[in-house]
Amino acid sequence: MKFRIVYNAWWMRRGWGMVFWSWMWFGLKESEVSDRHYRHELQHCYQVKRKGRLWFLISYALLWLRHGAFWGGYRNHPYEVEARQHQDNPLTAEEIAWRERRRITL
Ligand SMILES: [Zn+2]
Repeated sequence: MKFRIVYNAWWMRRGWGMVFWSWMWFGLKESEVSDRHYRHELQHCYQVKRKGRLWFLISYALLWLRHGAFWGGYRNHPYEVEARQHQDNPLTAEEIAWRERRRITL
């Protein structure tokens, strides 16, 4: 499963990142994205790989309705909790190479 990394997405709120379908978007320049932020978004790619693209989207939305939508935010969303638990993992050589190529292959 492949993903492309896109920086400086004009439509994204500055400082934010997200994984949608087969893209990892950042509202930041490449040099501004920390290892930690990249690793967080990468965990969402691993989730997409695990669930499948469509089911990831559907289940993300369903879990958001259940855990976040009416309480303001994403803190308790299980996919976000998991991503936060992994965001301080050291990047592997492969993960660093994906970032340099702006292409992730899982
Ligand atoms: Zn996240």
